[in-house]
Amino acid sequence: MSFSSLGLSEPLLRALADRDYAEPTPIQTAAIPAVLRGEDVWASAQTGSGKTAAFVLPIIERLVADGPRGRGRFVRALILVPTRELAAQIAGEIHDYGCHLSQEAALKTLVVVGGVSINPQMMALGGGADIIVATPGRLLDLIEHNAVSLSSVATLVLDEADRLFALGFADELARVLALLPARRQTLLFSATFPAAVQTLAENLLRNPVRIALASTPEGKPDIIQRAIEVDAPQRTQLLRNLIVLHDWKRVLVFVATKYATEHVAEKLCRLGIEAAAFHGEQSQGARTQALADFKASRVRVLIATDVASRGIDIAQLPVVVNYDLPRSPADYTHRIGRTGRAGESGVAVSFVSAETDAHFRLIEKRNRLHIEREQIAGFEPLETIVPAPLSTGGVKGKGKSKKDKLREAAGLSATLPANTTSFARPAASGPAPSSESGELFPFSRRPPQPRRS
Ligand code: AMP
Repeated sequence: MSFSSLGLSEPLLRALADRDYAEPTPIQTAAIPAVLRGEDVWASAQTGSGKTAAFVLPIIERLVADGPRGRGRFVRALILVPTRELAAQIAGEIHDYGCHLSQEAALKTLVVVGGVSINPQMMALGGGADIIVATPGRLLDLIEHNAVSLSSVATLVLDEADRLFALGFADELARVLALLPARRQTLLFSATFPAAVQTLAENLLRNPVRIALASTPEGKPDIIQRAIEVDAPQRTQLLRNLIVLHDWKRVLVFVATKYATEHVAEKLCRLGIEAAAFHGEQSQGARTQALADFKASRVRVLIATDVASRGIDIAQLPVVVNYDLPRSPADYTHRIGRTGRAGESGVAVSFVSAETDAHFRLIEKRNRLHIEREQIAGFEPLETIVPAPLSTGGVKGKGKSKKDKLREAAGLSATLPANTTSFARPAASGPAPSSESGELFPFSRRPPQPRRS
């Protein structure tokens, strides 16, 4: 299969040749013709599998074929994403792929995101745009300022669509959707579509072409997954030791809170490893700087919240560490998907403690994984891992807290096995069970199980 056989024209083929892309990836082969035909697409494909080009290339192709845009504050294609960095990244791709278009065919592409002054964006939107890549909140601000109208949007893309459907974005997304023409092409892309968002997705699409490459073994990214048992207070020192031992040159570390990004980064710096924090409450300048420093190897370790977990493409990132576990199985997929991209291999390490073991087991189960636990000499946990207790029904605040249950169960604690060093294998083939939950799920809603299978 070649890009030319997918129906792309000369300027785009030249841009692909500039990048030395030998052939389209499976998601590109499946999606590009469907988007070119004007169909709706619902695509789930692995992290790092080339999704961006799968919608950017045919959108450019169609816009160029449709001729220049009319006058006014109109937009022809709208790409919605959950983070500012992802918006900038996609706009960069659009720019690169369009670099051989003639001057008359050149497309006006704008990034519309929060965290920076709104005025330049208002000015830039004068005369409309061919493509806007936006986060929903700032887009709505600009609509309120009458800076842009969505009434002519012919193609809508929701990238990392399940994230946009989730709490925190749902209201803003609904407001944007209400402003779009009913007759339009809609494209949904993500590596994960938890059961909780399936109906929302279905309601948005008309006879979509369904592309499901996320669960095929061939499409799986080449990521070795490891789970290391360690007591929480030992994690920073263990992280430092692993970095030094394996000589990891570039490491993305996920933590649960903004405070932890700063705290762990500081501690690592004190231990002699250059590290920077990255989270949603930094100024946009600080965020951009931290990511740029990391990509340019000016800092070795980036300590981030989940704001870095979606879509961000960092070349040659060999290692991702879950210092704190992600909240949902989908977040786990996206976090580890920052490594092992575009055919490269990667390693994903998760730190598991007595308190988080049950949660990690749920992540494994929902993602159909089984990852043998390891212990590292000198960091063997002192706290014992206990079987997860039964839920009292899951009504928040009504039952015993997880900590209380763990304390109660402490008398039943199992013994830890000898050191193991082994890697993840899929527990079963095929897609994850349809009961997969969305962004949040209770830690304790599972029956007691033996310590190990
Ligand atoms: P994405 O999933 O869109 O973030 O892409 C993941 C990585 O794959 C990026 O670094 C892209 O530049 C790269 N990529 C996209 N399409 C191809 C292709 N056809 N051949 C090789 N690499 C690609």
